[in-house]
Amino acid sequence: MTIKDNLERLRDSIEKISLSCGRDPKEVKLLAVSKTFPISLINEANDAGQLHFGESRMQEFLPKYKERPDLLWHFIGHIQSNKLNKLLDTEVFIHSLDSVELAEKISAKAIDRKKVVKVLLQVNIDEDPAKFGFMPAGLLQNIEKILQLKGINVSGLMTIGALHESLKDTRASFAELRGLRDALSEVTKQEFPELSMGMSSDYREAIAEGATIVRVGTAIFGRR
Ligand SMILES: *Cc1c(COP(=O)(O)O)cnc(C)c1O
Repeated sequence: MTIKDNLERLRDSIEKISLSCGRDPKEVKLLAVSKTFPISLINEANDAGQLHFGESRMQEFLPKYKERPDLLWHFIGHIQSNKLNKLLDTEVFIHSLDSVELAEKISAKAIDRKKVVKVLLQVNIDEDPAKFGFMPAGLLQNIEKILQLKGINVSGLMTIGALHESLKDTRASFAELRGLRDALSEVTKQEFPELSMGMSSDYREAIAEGATIVRVGTAIFGRR
């Protein structure tokens, strides 16, 4: 199986699943998670038509970005404040904004650079104390404060599905993220169209629950 074959199979699968749950396949974006894989494989995926790429470690993202600034990059890993200047000097869609403090810092640095950074708020939907992300109740409490920040544009939510016993439980977590998004829209009277959820093992369930971005690594590039 080549990367091209994997991408074709995934695009077919995303289309079938979307149609089977009454969604427009064009609403679901495939994000190729290229972490740990070399730039040569990113180029190979791009040659096969893939435009969106996701990275989770700054020291890996920056050189890849430098090599291919023309691709559409997404940052999906936990962000340390001391790396923020370098991150904000790139053109990147941040999925992993996981605290009010980080939101304030990103916004301030974006304003310094006279730009608005597109972000998703990462939610710890299963309330796992070992994981990053806003707790749902905390996000409801802080959303107004976050939306006042002028240097960021919050376009939706992101979550990492926990390793549940069954995909039925994973799907229930994705449904909860969608419910939280709807609740946030209700209280803020603002729309949050993007839901970044689902990886190689559970993107099907995520699409069924409304994912607009699925983050797939292994099923495209192979095992890490
Ligand atoms: C690695 C990673 C993925 C991709 O996981 P696969 O199981 O390889 O598809 C998705 N999201 C995040 C945040 C990741 O770190």
